[in-house]
Amino acid sequence: TPVIGVLALQGDVREHLTALASAGAEARAVRRPEELAGVDGLVLPGGESTTMSKLAVLFGMMEPLRARVAAGMPVYGTCAGMILLADRILDPRSGQETVKGIDMIVRRNAFGRQNESFEAAVDVTSVPGGPVEGVFIRAPWVESVGAGVEVLAEHGGHVVAVRQDNALATSFHPELTGDHRVHGLFADMVRAVG
Ligand code: GLN
Repeated sequence: TPVIGVLALQGDVREHLTALASAGAEARAVRRPEELAGVDGLVLPGGESTTMSKLAVLFGMMEPLRARVAAGMPVYGTCAGMILLADRILDPRSGQETVKGIDMIVRRNAFGRQNESFEAAVDVTSVPGGPVEGVFIRAPWVESVGAGVEVLAEHGGHVVAVRQDNALATSFHPELTGDHRVHGLFADMVRAVG
């Protein structure tokens, strides 16, 4: 059974723990470097990316996170978590650092102006069984990707799910639906490494 952590500094941690358990993983909240060392993979939840990044620095987690992700630990970021995995943010707020891991530029709150929050069916490559219900909450989109990044889904002409090697990211929140197929895909990525 893969042990998958959820970074528990801020955001929708509980929902991810539940989704991971449904996907067959042993799920644990991760707040400290020692806890990070004990997991095979990690979810960066939705929430507020600037706050999460500042807390990660404050709790001494930013460097350990960067090191594990750079060393190939499977990682999955939803929404704010996607922003944390971006090598670049289009308009970063001051003091907003990222863990990095995916060669992409993200635009924060990209869907926010039209619709602060909406749901849409999204077809995700590598997720069999039809589209997933995408819950978008002040969601980012991916503005551009490097050559090594696989685009897994688009919505309204914008990239909303990507994978680069062991790093997966979605603009939307599968953890807020009862459908845990994206978490299943991530659990498979963790099993493949373990
Ligand atoms: N807009 C938030 C941010 O910039 C992300 C929102 C979310 O995670 N639902 O971090």
